[in-house]
Amino acid sequence: MSAYLQQLSVLYVEDEADIREGYCRTLKRHFKETYSASNGFEGLALYKQYWPDIVITDIRMPECSGIEMSKEILSLRPEQIIVFTTAHSESEYTLEALELRISAYILKPVEKNKLIEKLSKLAENLIQQRETRQHQETIQNMLNNPSNLLILTDLTQVTFASPGFFDLFGVKDKEAFHDRFRTFLDIFDSSEIPSHLSIKEDFLNHTLLDKDPDKIVAILTQEGMRNYHIKVTQVGKAQTWYLVTMWDVTNIYHEKIDAEHKANHDELTQVFSRVRFNEFYHQEFLRALRYKRALSLAVLDIDHFKAINDTFGHLVGDEVLKTLANFCQKNIRNTDFLSRWGGEEFVLILSETPIEDAFVVCEKLRIGLMELQFTKNIPVTISIGLSQLQPGDSKESLLRRADNALFKAKQLGRNQVNINA
Ligand code: GH3
Ligand code: MG
Ligand code: MG
Repeated sequence: MSAYLQQLSVLYVEDEADIREGYCRTLKRHFKETYSASNGFEGLALYKQYWPDIVITDIRMPECSGIEMSKEILSLRPEQIIVFTTAHSESEYTLEALELRISAYILKPVEKNKLIEKLSKLAENLIQQRETRQHQETIQNMLNNPSNLLILTDLTQVTFASPGFFDLFGVKDKEAFHDRFRTFLDIFDSSEIPSHLSIKEDFLNHTLLDKDPDKIVAILTQEGMRNYHIKVTQVGKAQTWYLVTMWDVTNIYHEKIDAEHKANHDELTQVFSRVRFNEFYHQEFLRALRYKRALSLAVLDIDHFKAINDTFGHLVGDEVLKTLANFCQKNIRNTDFLSRWGGEEFVLILSETPIEDAFVVCEKLRIGLMELQFTKNIPVTISIGLSQLQPGDSKESLLRRADNALFKAKQLGRNQVNINA
């Protein structure tokens, strides 16, 4: 039994009742559905109702011949499989039939095994064609999906790509693409490729084939800089082909960056948040301990800030906080870490900085703020407590000493830096 025939339906048209019934029994055993008709008119009506996969028809029939019926059917569906059963004596019909695009002729009397064998071959072809077409459609749909771009490349030449990929650069095909880009890798923003990785293999190994499943690259497209999640898979062994899959993740990427920024920064002053301070302090503390490096810590507090709020209002107080944070941020090194501890208090982590040098920085800030012009010409001063990492320190003890020093600075009259090494 042919597995192919079992998936298909057949229409059998034959005017002689006993022949028709005999063959119908055989066909019913092999096909999923079998329809039968005794002339061309009936056959055509059944065809239009069920659209069978295969049509088997006698040529010579009264009223409407197999040829007339087939002409009609082929005009409806040109790729229809039609099998003629024909006797030698009908040679004048056979000639006419030859002009039609007919899949097969079987001589009458038809041997049942031969018929099934022939039909099985036709069915196999038909099903394979359908599968191929389905695969092609699936591939085309994948290629056309604008949010998921596929590119087949050896990293130099683009062999195959989703139309959406070419749209990104406003080019119509791969030839036009290569007029603009010498190699596929040229689409990446050059800042993505570390300067020491000038060779494409290096870029591939270090960046694209990285184990990191969340590789995001930046690409300059027609619509500006976009971010893509990228996945590169090697295909084929003899030649080095890669299937590159790219998803546009610009929106989520930016949302993620914004969310991270919010979590890491203080909303009012835009210096680092206390959450970020905790992480950074932890890392720096461990690093300084392990490598026996200097680490200084300063706690800054605005003097009589309550009075500023009380006199000028909370909004002016906010303004003062912003101006002060901005000034401090601008006057420290990139490696120094300024965060808002809460209220009008800030903590400054000075990595690789012995306390004498930290003192200089703190004095610079304190004096600078005295000279800085604040809103409504409000005079603003700060007090600073300073400590440095000692053997046996914990994160808490180091911070506590700086806090104690601040307390001391306030006691001693404010607007000064106090050291509790
Ligand atoms: P000291 O010199 O002893 O530090 O005096 P102080 O007034 O600065 O200290 P205190 O702790 O008594 O007051 C701090 C004030 O800071 C009280 C609080 O309302 C104000 N403050 C805290 N956070 C904010 C803020 O985000 N905006 C404004 N405008 N004020 C704030
Ligand atoms: Mg204060
Ligand atoms: Mg305070």
